[in-house]
Amino acid sequence: MSKPDRTLIYPLFIPNEACPGGCVYCDQRKISGVESFDLDAAIPALQAFIRRNLGRKKEIAFYGGSFTAMPLKRQEMLLSRVFEILDEYTSIRISTHPAYLKDAALELCHKYRVKTIELGIQDFCDRPLRESGRNYNGKEALEACCKVRSDGFTLGVQLIPGLPGSNAQTLKTNIEILGDLAPDLLRLYPLVVIKGTLLEGLYRRGEYRPLQLSEAVSICADYTEYCLPLSIRIIKYGLPSNLDPEDVVAGAFHPAFGELVKQELLIRKLEKEPDLLAQLDAQQIQLLRAHKCSYLNSHSSARSRELGEELH
Ligand code: SF4
Repeated sequence: MSKPDRTLIYPLFIPNEACPGGCVYCDQRKISGVESFDLDAAIPALQAFIRRNLGRKKEIAFYGGSFTAMPLKRQEMLLSRVFEILDEYTSIRISTHPAYLKDAALELCHKYRVKTIELGIQDFCDRPLRESGRNYNGKEALEACCKVRSDGFTLGVQLIPGLPGSNAQTLKTNIEILGDLAPDLLRLYPLVVIKGTLLEGLYRRGEYRPLQLSEAVSICADYTEYCLPLSIRIIKYGLPSNLDPEDVVAGAFHPAFGELVKQELLIRKLEKEPDLLAQLDAQQIQLLRAHKCSYLNSHSSARSRELGEELH
């Protein structure tokens, strides 16, 4: 089992900054709830965060855009301003697009103590990448991961189960590639149809079928069972809960999505070893009972529905 990460993260959102465009599903302003980014306004809160957590491992993270696709001057300005206020326990994390990893950008990352690079890979298979407007292929996605790793950064991979063009076979391929690559960190964001995106048009025309909530939970549980023995740390399941439900047109959105995945994993264990039920601690029972046992009650297995009745 991988150890929990104790690094504290302070997120800074640069919504869709420098994104090349074309990603059919994305609207970072809606996802992050942040309209624009102002570093000057953010600095006092960053300094306070660092002061409050002296002696603890921390990262200041730039999320929500394509960091290394920005002009180098802008990258250097942001990195150097944040670097100035870091204490010795704090480093920087960036999230970026895998097609923009020029050497000059990675040199800046080294210079200003970027420790972790998360890549918005989304999928390692050509068809979902093409149908989602990502403008790179599976081979290039893998090469980008290898570059981040060989350059000495902690590698984070973000995947989106349920992209247009994905299916059971692409899921299998993704899981296999992940096993070979063994990134340090993984985020799983099952696809949600957000109002105003190109994906909404595809969905309304019947050209895209989103994952049901239960399918998305099950896929994330499959990833988890596969990743845990490989020490791939899954740091996020599902889009942030601050996404306004009014902006969700369809798809696997739930404000406590990660909790559903944990419920599913526990249910799978209980199905394999029914006697475990008597040994569950209060926290595990509470997890099964969460949301008035609605997950148990709607589960496809009869045993889970019985359990839901027992625990209700
Ligand atoms: S998916 Fe990533 S690259 Fe595409 S628009 Fe969203 S933040 Fe930008």
